[in-house]
Formats: sequence, structure tokens, C-alpha cells
Amino acid sequence: MPAVERSAYVGRFAPSPTGPLHAGSLAAALASRLDARAQHGRWLLRIEDLDAPREMPGAANAILDALARLGFRHDGEIVFQSRRNDAYRQAFERLAAAGHVYPCACTRREIADSITHRGETLARGEVPYPGTCRHGMPAGRSARAWRVRVDATPVRWIDRRAGARRDRLDEQVGDFVVRRADGPWAYQLAVVVDDDAQGVTDVVRGADLLDSTARQLHLRRLLGMPEPRHLHIPVLVGPDGTKLSKQTGAPAVDASRPIEALDAALEALGLGRIGDEPLERWWSLAAARWARAEALPSPSNG
Ligand code: GLU
Repeated sequence: MPAVERSAYVGRFAPSPTGPLHAGSLAAALASRLDARAQHGRWLLRIEDLDAPREMPGAANAILDALARLGFRHDGEIVFQSRRNDAYRQAFERLAAAGHVYPCACTRREIADSITHRGETLARGEVPYPGTCRHGMPAGRSARAWRVRVDATPVRWIDRRAGARRDRLDEQVGDFVVRRADGPWAYQLAVVVDDDAQGVTDVVRGADLLDSTARQLHLRRLLGMPEPRHLHIPVLVGPDGTKLSKQTGAPAVDASRPIEALDAALEALGLGRIGDEPLERWWSLAAARWARAEALPSPSNG
């Protein structure tokens, strides 16, 4: 990737090609695009195709095609994470040289067991890593992953919608994986390396990634990278109340009816509908609405 010029505002949309563009990811793409437009910034696209087994063949093209039909215009070349191995390796080597990462032999099962053995109940979602291999792997075991050390210093940051955040990585996730032994780089490392390389100043994405932000800021601080601003938009839920996602089989957005799809996304962002307008005019009106609203209304509905 050629060196980037740092500009006043650089936003991005970074879908993983695990399925087609659905209503939830469209709302995130729209928020990010409108924010960049309202700030006269650049807006980049990145395909996060790091995890080949989770990918759906053809999804990357389907997403890019849907975005184009909906009138999204991006700046610069589209970046594919699958081609960025060297950049991730360099960042990993910098972390390793400074002693921030260590190999870990633990299986998921062992991590879960070590926590229940301590009499603690497992929180929903991620199990905080108990630090078993922090000071070396047990004899005869080999590395399954590399983890980055975290400590008890709270990661403080500000979300433009959720406000001031204070995350204790040691309590929430523990030392976390940046690389699996069988090759793939973890999302947390790749996203930080790419956002930095692309000069991203503003991360606007779904609130399902709120909890990842502290991990990403931790890596940035270790790597000496500047920090972007963050805005996490409410996650859309389906009729059954579960998060709309590719994993739960959310249906593809119908890009053959662009205004309908865009209006539904704008409404989901709390900015109402614009209605039947030529595509270019729809975008101008939506950008004006976004600029007037400044950030998103009502933090309470996320
Ligand atoms: N690739 C991630 C996803 O599709 C988004 C990453 C990000 O916006 O930081 O959920």
C-alpha cells in the first residue's frame, strides 16, 4: 500500500465477507459514509478477508456491488486484508521485540476449566484469559496462539455517542490473541495496522464492536500509533430481538431498490426517511440531515 497523507478526516467501512450486505452492515456503512461526507473527508473501503474458513465465496464482490448500486462512493483503492500479511508480521515483530507478546498453549476448554475451577462463573461471551502461559508454556506443549499482555491500567477513551469509557482489559478479556499458530492474524491486530496505514482518523461502526475498541487502543498505544475518534452506532435487531448479522442469516439488502434500502438504514439511524428522490439528491439530503444531527440522537436505544 502506498504511503498515505494524513488528512483532516479519513473514515472507512471494513466489512468481513462472511455474507452479503445486510441491513445492519448497511446502517454502519451509511453512518460512516455520511459522517465522512459531512466533514468533507475521505472514505475508504477495506475487505476484512483474514479468516478464509468463515468467508462466503462471492460475498466480497456482492458487498462491493451492492454498495456501488446504492450510490456509495469510496476514495482510493480497496484494501484486502488477505494481501497484507507483511504489514501484520512487521507489527507483530515489533510487539514481540518489545516483549509484549508470548506464546500460549491453552485450548479453549482449558481456559474455561481454569476459570470454573477457581469457583468463578463464566460471563457471557468471552472468557478472560487467566494468564496460564504468561511466564512460559508447560513443558512439552507447543504454541496454539500468541497473546499480547494487558495490565490493570484502565483504557480510557471517548465514544462520540456512548461518551466516556473506561475499560479494564485484565478483567474483561485478559491477555488476548493477536496471532494463531496456524497462521491467521487476529482481527484486533489487523484492524489497528490497517487503520493506521490508511491514515484513518474516524472509526464509525456498529456497537457490537464497542468492546473491541479498548483492545485496539491498547495495541495502538504499544505500537505508538495515533488514536482515531470513535462512534459506535446502535446495533440493529431482527424481529426476534437478536442482532442482525451474517451469522444469524440476516437477509441481503435489496440493492435493486436503492432508495428503499437507504431510507430503511437512515431510519434505523434515527434520522427518518427521505423518500423517493433521485439517488444523488437522496445522498445530499441525507448528508445534510446527518450534519444537522451532528452525532446520533438518543444513546439510550443502543
Ligand atoms: N470487519 C468487521 C465486521 O464486519 C468490522 C471491523 C471494523 O469496523 O472495525 O464486523
